[in-house]
Amino acid sequence: MVNFDILIKNGLVVTMDSKRRVIEKGYVAIVGDRIAEVGKDSLDKSAEKVIDAKGAIVMPGIICGHTHLYGILLRGSPWFAKIEPPTDFIQNLHRIWWAMDEIMNYDDAYASALAASFEMMKSGVTLFADTFSGPNAIEGVLDRIEEAVKKVGIRGIIAFEATERHSKEEGERGIKENIRFIERVRREKDPLVTGMISIHASFTVTNWLLKWARELANKYEVPITLHTSEGLVDPYHNLERYGMRTFERLYRVGLLGPDVVAVHAVHVIDDELKLIAKTGTKIAHNPLSNMLNAVGAPPIHKMLEMGITVTIGNDGYIFDPFENIRGAYLLAKVAFRDPRLITPLEAIEMATINGAKAYGLEDKLGSLEPGKRADIIIVMPELMPTPLNAETVYGHLVNTIDGDDVKTVIVNGKIIMENRKSLTISEEEVNKISQEIAAKFWKRLLSKGEHQLDIVRLE
Ligand SMILES: [Zn+2]
Repeated sequence: MVNFDILIKNGLVVTMDSKRRVIEKGYVAIVGDRIAEVGKDSLDKSAEKVIDAKGAIVMPGIICGHTHLYGILLRGSPWFAKIEPPTDFIQNLHRIWWAMDEIMNYDDAYASALAASFEMMKSGVTLFADTFSGPNAIEGVLDRIEEAVKKVGIRGIIAFEATERHSKEEGERGIKENIRFIERVRREKDPLVTGMISIHASFTVTNWLLKWARELANKYEVPITLHTSEGLVDPYHNLERYGMRTFERLYRVGLLGPDVVAVHAVHVIDDELKLIAKTGTKIAHNPLSNMLNAVGAPPIHKMLEMGITVTIGNDGYIFDPFENIRGAYLLAKVAFRDPRLITPLEAIEMATINGAKAYGLEDKLGSLEPGKRADIIIVMPELMPTPLNAETVYGHLVNTIDGDDVKTVIVNGKIIMENRKSLTISEEEVNKISQEIAAKFWKRLLSKGEHQLDIVRLE
């Protein structure tokens, strides 16, 4: 008798449930879009589709807590050779990110979303939270990003990054694009793609926009995300203009809360950590991006000690989640000169169950438990120099595994990659579209001449 739609058997099942059970010779059974059973030995079980996961790790799909899909267009870009290298964070924004986002068009948004979400899928990400920025591609752009993500078949929380960098009107248009998109996907009850409210950063918006974002998050019951104290410009701006540090200002305007995912939080003092903990605000940690931009390292170990939920993002830089997990495992050690900081288990928690918690999805995603949505990856390491078992698996996930070891990806009960072959859009098609668009994008970028610095004008 066939009991299930899909049965994954004989695997080393990393559940990430509340007991953090790891089951040797375990199985996961799927019916429809849900996990029906998780257990040991599947002798009496059968299914329409049986996957033998002998020698493999079966675990929840990785959640990427913060990304910019369009960041993939910077990879290998000749722009870096043309500009004077930035010497700090704000120059990095001016010379790279803002130079780039100004020329972004709708096709760029589509192609980069396709390439980046495909790369994430192939390396084990089943849900990401993306924020797009582009002052000349606002209205309707989230539909193009959604179209790309749906072709790949993973989950996405997508949003437009509202900013008053140029004008108040620009901020208003950004927020309105989020409202439009949230209302549309809500009407269509899409199981995979949803919206949220996104704000660039506290130093590019006024309190008016922060308060409006809070009202909307309450009204629509969606998350709010914003960059916080990534570079020193953020706390300095807030101290100079408002007489308080970043998180104090966000707290005073009423923005903070359990539905807020604050990105980075590098330059935070203990009083700010207390506000983050007290309000239940979540943190998205982007270790590789922090290293690349040389902004410093957030005190993740302190946050975890205080019970703050921390998830891992890639910030539009390296999309392989296992590299970012490794980064989160290592960065606190070097930055705070203490090798005890961040255990392998903590790193994996941040990339799975904490990612779900950050976006209020812990009842649906983030662990392998009956009743949850079937977002599962099967990781079959090519090289395994030492024994792989329940005791050693977290160490291997952090130190041995790469995105290329992810063999099979299941999202919402549907197999979208099997034995490294995408069953949705083909690799050739993704590469063709993204290479063509990227080449045109670079040409426009290089021909735009010296980038005129954006002046942040506020109030
Ligand atoms: Zn970011």
